[in-house]
Amino acid sequence: MGMGRVRKMFRKVVRKMEKMRLSPIEVFVFHAVSDKYDEQLNMRVDWSSTKDFKQRIINYQQRYTFISLEQAYWMMCHDLFRSKKYAVLTCDDGFESVLQIIPFLEERKVPVTLFVNPCYLDGISKRKEYSLNPQYITHKDLFSIHSENVTIGMHGYEHNDATRLSSDQFEESVNKCINMLSNHPRYISFYAYTWGNYSEQTQQILKQKKVVPVFTDGASNYRFHYGIGRKPIDSYYLKKEK
Ligand SMILES: [Zn+2]
Repeated sequence: MGMGRVRKMFRKVVRKMEKMRLSPIEVFVFHAVSDKYDEQLNMRVDWSSTKDFKQRIINYQQRYTFISLEQAYWMMCHDLFRSKKYAVLTCDDGFESVLQIIPFLEERKVPVTLFVNPCYLDGISKRKEYSLNPQYITHKDLFSIHSENVTIGMHGYEHNDATRLSSDQFEESVNKCINMLSNHPRYISFYAYTWGNYSEQTQQILKQKKVVPVFTDGASNYRFHYGIGRKPIDSYYLKKEK
């Protein structure tokens, strides 16, 4: 084989490998979405207007192919080569207002994972951060979701910082989540840490229970590690970036 041909083949292989590079998987998290901001029911850090949110998803779809959280983690576990830019959409806290955008996401074929606190599914329980009680998705509404576009994950029994609970308390909280959510047809064994806080102990407990931890660490996901990183996309964070 002549040198010219070898060089040509080499270039061809390099080009092919470039195409097969391991592109990052971005996992986004949002919280409340409603038409109008209400300071008694929302916090600046966890809110987007419906209009902004929809536009943001449309823009992302020009850059990314949206896949489900499970698919993304499977890809990471197998370290598959990825040429496409993938993204995953997740939503924490389970505010009732989020139900109104599920049909929009379904229409645009954007899978979404809802991380909920089972304690608030009664529609009465209150979180201390809000002066009024924001309406949460109720047990009845949650169990009426059968769409293949939606999956349900855990966000603690109550919205407590996992690192401020004892190991026993944290384990009990996870057990309660599993008990109340695992019979949902769209349940997945993923746990999004509240406030993004975790410790070695909480990680160990999740690992024992074969639950995948989900962080809010601003990281992109490349190769396999235990857990999956996320970036917040509520209006507050995106405005800060500008
Ligand atoms: Zn939360």
